[in-house]
Amino acid sequence: MSLKQIEKEIQGCRRCGLADGRTNIVFGDGNPKAKLMLIGEGPGRDEDLQGKPFVGAAGQLLNKILEAAEIKREDVYIANIVKCRPPGNRVPNRKEARACLPWLWQQIETISPRIVVLLGSTALQNLIKPDARITKMRGQWLESKSGIKIMPTYHPAALLRDPSKKKPVWEDFQKIRDEYKKIMNN
Ligand code: SF4
Repeated sequence: MSLKQIEKEIQGCRRCGLADGRTNIVFGDGNPKAKLMLIGEGPGRDEDLQGKPFVGAAGQLLNKILEAAEIKREDVYIANIVKCRPPGNRVPNRKEARACLPWLWQQIETISPRIVVLLGSTALQNLIKPDARITKMRGQWLESKSGIKIMPTYHPAALLRDPSKKKPVWEDFQKIRDEYKKIMNN
């Protein structure tokens, strides 16, 4: 199935209660053949209004990080654990995440990225282990059964709240950049 077909299918989705408060479903954005995929938590206010992921302040910071790592945003694909905005930007609960994850699995299967960057603990806990701690696991490569390299790091929104996280995130993105370059040059 193509990304366009999945996006068509998701329209009108009411698998969880987040459907009630959304303006738009924020499906995902970027290169459908991306080698690098970034996964965040869920849409915020700007994303909900525009229907695109990472367009608000955190998104602008992510753009800067990608630019510094010499990774073009249009070359990567960006999606979230949940596609509809949780009220007041709260963290999506397990039930909501579980309801929405099949859409993300379909996206990952279709795009077939070589690297997946997990932005923040919601992505880490829902995709790797419910009790995983981002503070402990960030900066270390993990590998999926199908050989996808996975790097957890802090969510850009966390950097806006706590600038001391900028240094570790930059260290993580240097590793991501090196691996990405290796893959792109092969
Ligand atoms: S968050 Fe996901 S599962 Fe819930 S309504 Fe939106 S698209 Fe459907």
